[in-house]
Amino acid sequence: MPDYDAIVVGAGPAGTCTAIHAARQGVQVLLLDQSTFPREKMCGDALSSLAVAELNSLGILPRLLEIPHTPVQKITYYSPDGSSVTVPILKMDDAVPATGIICRRVLLDNLLMEVAAEEGVEIVDWCRVTGILTKNGQACGIEGERGGGRKVSWTAKVVVGADGNESIVGRQMKMPRYREYRALAVRAYYRQVLGIRGNIEVHFPEEVLPGYVWFHPTETSQTNVGLTIPMDVVKQGNIKPKHALRRALESPKLKERFAFAEQMGEIEAGILPVGTPVKEIHGDGFILVGDAAGLVNPCSSDGITNAIISARIAGDVLAKACRGNLFDEAALREYPYTLWKEIGPSLEMGGRLLGLRTPKAIGSLIRSASRRPHNAGWISGILLGSALPSEDLEDFLSYINFFAK
Ligand SMILES: Cc1cc2nc3c(=O)[nH]c(=O)nc-3n(C[C@H](O)[C@H](O)[C@H](O)COP(=O)(O)OP(=O)(O)OC[C@H]3O[C@@H](n4cnc5c(N)ncnc54)[C@H](O)[C@@H]3O)c2cc1C
Repeated sequence: MPDYDAIVVGAGPAGTCTAIHAARQGVQVLLLDQSTFPREKMCGDALSSLAVAELNSLGILPRLLEIPHTPVQKITYYSPDGSSVTVPILKMDDAVPATGIICRRVLLDNLLMEVAAEEGVEIVDWCRVTGILTKNGQACGIEGERGGGRKVSWTAKVVVGADGNESIVGRQMKMPRYREYRALAVRAYYRQVLGIRGNIEVHFPEEVLPGYVWFHPTETSQTNVGLTIPMDVVKQGNIKPKHALRRALESPKLKERFAFAEQMGEIEAGILPVGTPVKEIHGDGFILVGDAAGLVNPCSSDGITNAIISARIAGDVLAKACRGNLFDEAALREYPYTLWKEIGPSLEMGGRLLGLRTPKAIGSLIRSASRRPHNAGWISGILLGSALPSEDLEDFLSYINFFAK
């Protein structure tokens, strides 16, 4: 008999939410992470309205609203030509008592970990997974190292790789790496940035297009400031993202706002594995979720939303596999099928919108949004490539194509 039904490797939002969904359906789960919690995770700390709605349907939102966070209702966009517009963040569901939320990951991930423990998930942190156990090519457990170097191993009917961009589960189960689909993000916290009004700010300096610079207000006096940029643009333009961020903050448009600002710690850099609806993300005895499956929206660089969505679908598929006692590739195929059906169109659209992010198109869209407040919500969706109904995709693309000319 295996030790567990499922072993989830990685306790970021993808891993904890998979564990919570599965445990609530009777799956016996072991959740492992190499860090000790609470732990920091380099991030912009922003939860989209869709992520907030997912956490609400998981019953976690009320708890999240009790820990330190910043509710955000609006985004201000700044074009390369200096025009700007402030638009409301579209709510996914009127019954959800929040739109966007900025919550530092040290707090968010710890809360999700606590909820998983309350749901009966067995948690072992400070345990680095070093290998995947297989039987006839099917994943059937893990081996690892506890803090202090003690070797451990556990068996399970199925292994979930929720271990981020460098997923050991994906690598050991020989999943393709898709290195061409990556973006780079850098971020630092700053104190005393002038003019922060509780909105998310998205700046599009021409030098980093189609990337952008974000300002996310945290509940402390600090602002999470960062830059995201596709990897091919970084390579082609020989761009150094940390320098690009510093240059953007020293530009005439932003310099005054940073006149008294103090940078807290180093500017840190991380990889965003961006999504395309073509990836291989499961096999015999295993599935990949969140960044391990490479699900970051290419346009907005939002990775938490799809991490939580993949967790919901994975939790359901794991429960079904346990009921049927089948864990091979065919039994788990419903996972990628359902996932790509749900998020594939928005990933595809994100990639196409990114390609259309020219200074002219951005300027036109921002001016159009300020002239037509009733359209501002979906123009905002185009600018960030998020929260758009997929059935209107072609309409949106022809609209932006028109402006890009
Ligand atoms: C600079 C930056 C800014 C970002 N800003 C945003 C933002 O504002 N909003 C947003 O939605 N997304 C943002 N993202 C993306 C977001 O951080 C990720 O998409 C999200 O964290 C994915 O969650 P996850 O659970 O899949 O992986 P992770 O959060 O990376 O969690 C993976 C976990 O696996 C553990 N792990 C890894 N390897 C092992 C191992 N061998 N053994 C045991 N444990 C292991 C790690 O310790 C970690 O806890 C940003 C990313 C970066 C780099």
